[in-house]
Amino acid sequence: MTTAAARERIYLFDTTLRDGAQTTGVDFSVEDKRRIAAVLDDLGLDYIEGGYPGANAIDSEFFSARPNLGASRFTAFGMTKRAGRSVSNDPGLQAVLQSAADSICLVGKSWDYHVRVALGITNDENLQSIAESLKAVVAVKKEAMLDCEHFFDGFKANPEYALAVARTAYDSGARWVVLCDTNGGTLPHEVEAIVERVARHVPGASLGIHTHNDTENAVANSLAAVRAGCRQIQGTLNGLGERCGNANMTSIIPTLMLKPEMANRFETGIAPEKLRSLTHASRVLDEILNRAPHRHQPYVGEAAFATKAGIHASAILKDPDTYEHIRPESVGNRRRLLVSQQAGKSNIMAELERVGVALDKDDPRIGTLLDEVKGREASGYSYESADASFELLARRSLGEVPKFFSVDSFSVVVQRRYNAKGEQVTLSKADVKLFINGDSEPLWSVAEGNGPVNALDRALRKDLGRYNTNIRSVELVDYKVRILTGGTEAVTRVLVESLDTATGERWFTVGVSPNIIDASFEALLDSINYKLMKDGAAVAHEA
Ligand SMILES: [Zn+2]
Repeated sequence: MTTAAARERIYLFDTTLRDGAQTTGVDFSVEDKRRIAAVLDDLGLDYIEGGYPGANAIDSEFFSARPNLGASRFTAFGMTKRAGRSVSNDPGLQAVLQSAADSICLVGKSWDYHVRVALGITNDENLQSIAESLKAVVAVKKEAMLDCEHFFDGFKANPEYALAVARTAYDSGARWVVLCDTNGGTLPHEVEAIVERVARHVPGASLGIHTHNDTENAVANSLAAVRAGCRQIQGTLNGLGERCGNANMTSIIPTLMLKPEMANRFETGIAPEKLRSLTHASRVLDEILNRAPHRHQPYVGEAAFATKAGIHASAILKDPDTYEHIRPESVGNRRRLLVSQQAGKSNIMAELERVGVALDKDDPRIGTLLDEVKGREASGYSYESADASFELLARRSLGEVPKFFSVDSFSVVVQRRYNAKGEQVTLSKADVKLFINGDSEPLWSVAEGNGPVNALDRALRKDLGRYNTNIRSVELVDYKVRILTGGTEAVTRVLVESLDTATGERWFTVGVSPNIIDASFEALLDSINYKLMKDGAAVAHEA
């Protein structure tokens, strides 16, 4: 019998909505911020840094009232007061102090070089600004923190001054003194050594770590800092952040909770059952950003538990521990066995099971399907990232998919010319002629688009007769083309990602042809047929 030793608490500070919003191309609306904050709160993050009130209209509105959060502390970011001004005369700091935040994380310089060059003030004036600003946070009864900007570079250049900044913050009432690797170039062994030295001056229970991923070590640096004493970790969902991103919270959380060497020593505010919503949280963020999820992201990516070789596949089915470092279900992910050129029967059985096709392992149709998949893969198809096409193929080979409609012909015209204003324009126009199964009259549709595939997609979906309600909410969200060489001629493989805006469901379909338009059309057709199959759309009985 053993009793678990008391574990130390690690506090998780999420900055997706503040530092993560520095990512190129990312602009959160107030509504986006509310949705993401709710997801983070539900997951159990200790701090949600929502932005910088006073810096822009969106953040000011977001901080005008506390969002409906449970245990998470609503945190505002701000700057320490400017030298030569009093706290009460600094409108930027006042906006932060008067916001609806529970906690305030101010940023201050800790590299003497930046104090001199960027601020143009003395080292002592900088310490004074930091001290007075933090005391002002404490005075309005909010929790105070300091992000020590450029801490590690500053420490290497002038350790005494960097330490003086950290110590001043602690002595001025900062609950957390956060050591920032702002440029992201510090390596794990350096972080560990420096944090150990800092922890002799400021207790580790008040130290935080904030890293960037410029050497792909942001997560490793965060863990190194924890080993050396830090008890708060700052990071972002999916590692969002400028340049190469911030420390990836989606990797840090399961590492802390599932790896025994961490989990035996530390605990977080996240409940094990909430860990199972991690994959969902990661995907929701991608959804809001309208990005395709990163397939190879550790723990939560679609490929994180995907295994290709046949021999591994059969071993995994017997004993998952042989090839997986954690159970995929623990983070809300799932195991995937890929249908590939090496695919054996066990692979295809597992894939069928995953897409929900029930077959006995001795069913002779499995062999037929396997031969078909292999034949198609030899001619350029790949089902590894086209689940919907795979399911369609499988169910068709079992006779489960009715013919909803048939395309009689299509054509696409691409024309480049000068318009009335004398500007050069390129126009694409497509027409599609099809028969809904059971109808004797064809449906003709014509549409224009910004490119041939877009025009074809629009023409195809413009009128599908009785199926219009099924496809109304379907959108093409991503389109990838790959030219496969080898053999005598080049072949084009097209991968289409579709989104049902009504349900949020995404699916992938594939098309292959020597002709890029043909390949695209095939993938578009699969997408629509998949949707109709999933909806169980009705087919007219043939006479
Ligand atoms: Zn940062």
